[in-house]
Amino acid sequence: MDFSLSEDQRLLREEIIRFARQELNRSVQERDREGRFPHDLWRKCGELGLPGLPVPEEYGGAGQDPLTTALALEALGYGCEDGGLVFALCAHLLACVVPIWKHGSEAQKQRYLPGLCSGTLIAVNAMTEPGAGSDAFAMTTRAEPEGEGWRIRGTKTFSSNGPIADLAVLYAVTDPEKGYYGGVTAFLVEKGTPGFEVGQKFEKLGLRTSPISELVFEDVRVPAEAVLGEVGAGTSLFMQSMEWERVCIAATHIGTMQRLLEKAVRYARTRTAFGKAIGKFQAVSHRIVDIKVRLEAARLLTYHAASRLDRSRDVAMDASITKLFVSESLVQSALDTVQVFGGYGFMAEYDVERTLRDAVGSTLYSGTSEIQRNIIAGWLGL
Ligand SMILES: Cc1cc2nc3c(=O)[nH]c(=O)nc-3n(C[C@H](O)[C@H](O)[C@H](O)COP(=O)(O)OP(=O)(O)OC[C@H]3O[C@@H](n4cnc5c(N)ncnc54)[C@H](O)[C@@H]3O)c2cc1C
Repeated sequence: MDFSLSEDQRLLREEIIRFARQELNRSVQERDREGRFPHDLWRKCGELGLPGLPVPEEYGGAGQDPLTTALALEALGYGCEDGGLVFALCAHLLACVVPIWKHGSEAQKQRYLPGLCSGTLIAVNAMTEPGAGSDAFAMTTRAEPEGEGWRIRGTKTFSSNGPIADLAVLYAVTDPEKGYYGGVTAFLVEKGTPGFEVGQKFEKLGLRTSPISELVFEDVRVPAEAVLGEVGAGTSLFMQSMEWERVCIAATHIGTMQRLLEKAVRYARTRTAFGKAIGKFQAVSHRIVDIKVRLEAARLLTYHAASRLDRSRDVAMDASITKLFVSESLVQSALDTVQVFGGYGFMAEYDVERTLRDAVGSTLYSGTSEIQRNIIAGWLGL
């Protein structure tokens, strides 16, 4: 497999890195402290086409293939120091825009994709419930037929972009008898629909510029046209969106690890102790080498999985392997970078502590590390 970049991919990568460094990195510490979502910067990302990277141009997207989408997100993760903004964009693109592009009716695609791709509309994926996280399909949110449409009741939680979203991709049980296979349906619910409210907003350890909340659906009535895909097809639609999310968020993590590596090398070459640069102590240099080794392995896994998205049925296992390895590599590499920086690594001023806090969530969202191991075990026949 040859993953050398084409000229177009190289130019796209450079453009995104330049954009991120020039436009997205001012006042990140303040935003993080205040837990403030940067609407203005989201709009700038929209002007560059980032929220619609893989969507065909006829719907307002950039028409990139999955591998190029991953390369673009890697560039964003490398150039942008605001992990919350990168995450909010990924939650929007991978868990909402992708399923609408893949499964929406022509009318839904015409209605939503241009705004979602330009960033004028923001979307939220509403799957997790207070009593159903890893066991997502133990959900209790119900949608029952009523007249020509549906009546929805339930509460979702940990919905990234929830407080700022214009559109929810909501999963609800439509046939309790069928359950996981055929009993779950995806719906598109617009902000302002009576009964659809933002519930509790949560403070977070990291990714603090990405807002997250409960979403409450209290007898929300939607027309039949609000069903995304087929009635009963919600599970497969969700699983496909998770394949995209697991692989392409991993791509942003590679970018972040590359940035951490460069910071660690720079610091280890200039910080001195006992009369020499700390990078001359093997205890320090080996720690940095381990970041490099993890990064290279993570990159290959991610590119390989991204190149197979949409092309292979067993990409689900690749996606879980990638998600598991890359997220755990990111957390370890962020911890290692803090250690290389010593006490300075613990201080907000040097930014590496924020990257560590942002990294912790990566082994939880899109399915925890334990759930990824369970999925891989299942593919191994265990
Ligand atoms: C930053 C962030 C953003 C998120 N964004 C969204 C979003 O936009 N939309 C959305 O719907 N959800 C979102 N989530 C929710 C996320 O998907 C869930 O938190 C995750 O799936 C875990 O569910 P839980 O928190 O209920 O933990 P639980 O399922 O209660 O798990 C608790 C612990 O038990 C372990 N465990 C559970 N079952 C098993 C098992 N069978 N085998 C081994 N271990 C097990 C878990 O791995 C975990 O360590 C987000 C979460 C975070 C942290």
